[in-house]
Amino acid sequence: MLKNNPENILVCVAWPYVNGEPHLGHIAGNNLPADIFARFHRMVGNNVLMVSGSDQHGTPVTIRAKEENTSPEKIADKYHKIWSKTFQELDFSFDLYTKTGTENHKEIVQKLFISLNENGYLEEKYSEQPYSEKSQMFLSDRYIVGDCPHCNSRTKGDQCDSCGKDFEPIELKNLKSTIDDSEVTFKNTKHIYLKLPEFQKSLNEWITSKSYWRSAVKNQSLGFLSKGLIERAITRDIDWGVEVPLKNYEEKRIYVWFEAVIGYLSASIEWAKSSNNLSQNKELWKEWWINPESKHFYFQGKDNIPFHTIILPAILMGAGEYNLPYDVVANEYLNFSGKQFSKSENWAVWVSDFLKEYDSESLRYYLSSIMPESSDSDFTWDSFFDSNNNELVATFGNLVNRIQSLIKSNFNNVVPQNKNLDEIDNNMITDIKKSFESTGNFLEKRQFRNGLKEIMNLAKLGNRYIDQKEPWSTVKTNSQLASNTLWVGANLISNLGVLIAPYLPKTSVKISGMFNIKDNAPEWKYREVKAGILIENIEPLFKKIEKENKS
Ligand SMILES: [Zn+2]
Repeated sequence: MLKNNPENILVCVAWPYVNGEPHLGHIAGNNLPADIFARFHRMVGNNVLMVSGSDQHGTPVTIRAKEENTSPEKIADKYHKIWSKTFQELDFSFDLYTKTGTENHKEIVQKLFISLNENGYLEEKYSEQPYSEKSQMFLSDRYIVGDCPHCNSRTKGDQCDSCGKDFEPIELKNLKSTIDDSEVTFKNTKHIYLKLPEFQKSLNEWITSKSYWRSAVKNQSLGFLSKGLIERAITRDIDWGVEVPLKNYEEKRIYVWFEAVIGYLSASIEWAKSSNNLSQNKELWKEWWINPESKHFYFQGKDNIPFHTIILPAILMGAGEYNLPYDVVANEYLNFSGKQFSKSENWAVWVSDFLKEYDSESLRYYLSSIMPESSDSDFTWDSFFDSNNNELVATFGNLVNRIQSLIKSNFNNVVPQNKNLDEIDNNMITDIKKSFESTGNFLEKRQFRNGLKEIMNLAKLGNRYIDQKEPWSTVKTNSQLASNTLWVGANLISNLGVLIAPYLPKTSVKISGMFNIKDNAPEWKYREVKAGILIENIEPLFKKIEKENKS
């Protein structure tokens, strides 16, 4: 599975709005699968660039700033720091995690805006928009409430909270501004629109050709297209965001939906210029973005699909030169005890709270095993405790522990000699080698739950092998048999340490440490342990958790 010709793999992870803390839904939805995928491709030998950042603009940040009685800048910076720290604690291997508030991001967004304009894909149009005379400002959808034209319920925005139907803000009755409680009027204003209909045909052909996309992603995208694309405003009457590079637009800003998706490109460019890029070649980002021999993977939640299968590709097609997504790996939702995680209803498990009590590896393991790849899945405390105690501790940890202590007590911590392995020994070694192929196939296909199952099946086979071989008794009757079993056992552990590396990086490093292997980035291949090597004693890899009532 190791590559002779390394591929350029760009791993793009959804940009979170930094108006609150990360909860477990964010992690299982896109960050964790992206990290597993990036780590695997590095082990295979590919050139991986993994980027993301905080989405600092947009109304959610402004609203949060009002709630906390501070500025959008302060809110964006506060939560950017919290998200960055969380990602470090969970060992996410970003090459760069940045933010949309940088000078670099502004430059790249404006550059693409200008390219689209020069290529004829932008248009200026006038429209009536909600306005507060009292505050002398235009009101975004989230700042107005009115009676739904369909069901008469009181609702915010451009979609009814009760009946779910869409409408134009101007159709709402008894409109009020939520900022100052004043009457809402409508005022004529000009904006720049992206001519999305011009991309309808090429997007349709492009998406239809994607035979390997998850069916939910493909169907949602084609469904979106089939309704017909409409021109979409790129600019807004707000003062928090990227400036519009046009005369007479000084009071307006670029809409967040347009600039945030350009973050993947701007982050790649920022990385190439930064000290994180060890090659010092500042043009290296082009290997992923211009060189056609490159694959882009976008890890997203299902609510973000059209932004990455339609909006972003349209922007990239319109601007010219850049590579389009290869796959949009969108997950369904992770629920919490049967109900959707909700920031506003405070129905969530916050990552920072979780990590105060439990280990990040236990979390990575559990979330990988229930990842919502093809349908929604459910986080419950009981199943978390069970996964830690019955799988990590009882299967994986136990296997490592018993082989280590058998080698310690019977062979003075030295890996014994192997001689004339029997069929069962050889089958075990063959199974280990096959696991690289089978697990790797699942990881390449972005089936992370299945990949983890393969590894855990190998650990189960390993436990059964030791049970069957009973080295604790053969050591008294025929010590070569026990030597062979524990030599195979040492290889079992060593290779489980390699296989588990994309999922549980800290555990992998600990296992390498057992064999005095200092290389923390093993290659994705069978790693043989030579007889005669001294094994370092390590602490048990995982701790049993006492069940407690958390609800
Ligand atoms: Zn309604």
